[in-house]
Amino acid sequence: MDLGLSADQLALQARARAFAREIARPRAAEIDATEQYPWDIVKALTGAGFVGMTIPTAYGGQGRSFLDAVLVIEEMAKCCTVTARIAVETNMGAISTVMAYGTDEQKRLAASLVLSGDKPAICITEPEAGSDTTAMSTRADRRGDRYVINGRKHWITGAGVSRLHLIFARVFDERGQELGIGGFLAVREENENLAKGPRMARREKTMGLRGMPEGELVFEDLEVPASMAVLPPSGFRRGFADLMNAYNSQRVGAGSVAMGIAAGALDLAVDWVKEREQFGRPIGEFQGLQWMLADMQTQLTASRLMLYAAARSRGSGSAFPDPMLAAQAKIFASEAAIRIVNDALQMFGARGYSRDLPLERMARDVRMFTIGGGTAQVLRTLVASRLLGWKLPQSRDGYVEDSRRLAAE
Ligand SMILES: Cc1cc2nc3c(=O)[nH]c(=O)nc-3n(C[C@H](O)[C@H](O)[C@H](O)COP(=O)(O)OP(=O)(O)OC[C@H]3O[C@@H](n4cnc5c(N)ncnc54)[C@H](O)[C@@H]3O)c2cc1C
Repeated sequence: MDLGLSADQLALQARARAFAREIARPRAAEIDATEQYPWDIVKALTGAGFVGMTIPTAYGGQGRSFLDAVLVIEEMAKCCTVTARIAVETNMGAISTVMAYGTDEQKRLAASLVLSGDKPAICITEPEAGSDTTAMSTRADRRGDRYVINGRKHWITGAGVSRLHLIFARVFDERGQELGIGGFLAVREENENLAKGPRMARREKTMGLRGMPEGELVFEDLEVPASMAVLPPSGFRRGFADLMNAYNSQRVGAGSVAMGIAAGALDLAVDWVKEREQFGRPIGEFQGLQWMLADMQTQLTASRLMLYAAARSRGSGSAFPDPMLAAQAKIFASEAAIRIVNDALQMFGARGYSRDLPLERMARDVRMFTIGGGTAQVLRTLVASRLLGWKLPQSRDGYVEDSRRLAAE
C-alpha cells in the first residue's frame, strides 16, 4: 500500500526494521524477565542515529519529522516495546517541548543529553492529580535566581534512569503569589545544586513494559536555576496548556508503539494460521479465523493512517501535532491494538498463553496505551469538547484559568 512515504522515509523504515529484528528482538524477552533498563539497546539506538532524530540540526540532531520518528517507533514496537518507548521519548514528548519553547541554553542542554542516549522524563502525574493534572500540588517557589521545588510525582517513566527531567509545578513568586503551572528542567546527578533530588522513592510494579522503570519521584528543596524554567510566550499564567502540547507528540508516539505491537502480533498470527493444522487443514482455511484476520488488518490500517496523519499535521504553523488528530489517533490505535493482540493470542490456542511465545508479553505491554499519556476516556472528552465548542466542566486538558479568580483580579 502506498502511504505517501518518500524514498528517504522508506530507507529509514528499512533500516529501523533491520535494527529491530537483529538487535532489539533477541533482547525483548530478557528485558521483560529481568526488568532491567536496556542500556545496551540505548547505546545501539544512539549509535544508529535513532535517538534525537527530530532535534533540529542547529542543535546537533537530524531535523527529522515526527512521521520519520513514527516509522522508526513502529518497527521497533513490532519486536520490543521497551526499545520503541525509548525511541518515542528521545524524539517526542519532553524534548519536543524544550525544542518548541526552550531558551538556547535549555535546547543545548536537552539536545546534548538526548543525543548521548538520555531518555528525558516528563513529571506531571501525582497521587492526587491524575487525569486532573491541574490538581497538582508540587510547587516551585522563586528564591532569588533559583526556584525551589517540593513535591511528589508518581508513575514517572524512566524514574531512576533518566537524567533530564521536565517537572511540572505550581509556580509562586517571591511574595508567595501563585503565577500558574510551569515546567522546569532538572538534571539528575549532574549539578551539585540538585543534590536533593529528583529522588526515586519507589518503583512501580508494572503489568508490562517491565524493562522501562516507572517510579515515584520526590523533590525535597530541589533547587533549579531560574534560567531552567521553560516558559512559553504566553507566560506562566496561560502557558500550561502550551507546555502540555508535549503530550500531543507523546500521544502520537504512544499510539505508534501500540500500533507497532499490534502489527507484530498480526505478523505472527498470519504465519501461524498457515502452519498450524487442525481438522486436516491449516487453521487459516477456516473462515472464522479469516474474518478475524481481516478485521485485525482493517483496524491496523486505520490506526496507521490516523497516526501518520496526526504526525504529518505538525509543521503547518505548529511545533506539535494537531490536538484533535493526536487524541483521536491515540484513542483508536490503542484500543484497536489491545483487540488485535488479544485476537492474535487467541489464534495460537494454548501456545498463545505460554511465556515461550512473545504474545503474552505483547498483551501485557499493549494494555498501558489506553491509560498513560491521557486515558481513552479523557481524550474522548477532549475530542467532544472541541466538537461542541464548549469547555466541558469535566475536561481540563491543560491549565484552564479560574475565570472568576482572574476576573476578580
Ligand atoms: C505505564 C505508565 C506510564 C506513565 N508515564 C507517565 C509519565 O512519564 N509522566 C507522568 O506524568 N505520568 C505518567 N503516567 C501517568 C498517567 O498519565 C496517568 O495514569 C493518567 O493520566 C491517568 O491518571 P490516573 O492513573 O490517576 O487515573 P485517574 O485520573 O484517577 O482516572 C481513573 C479512571 O477515571 C477515568 N476518568 C478520569 N477523569 C475522567 C473524566 N473527566 N471523564 C471520564 N472518565 C474519567 C479515567 O479514564 C480512568 O479510567 C503513566 C502511566 C502509566 C500507566
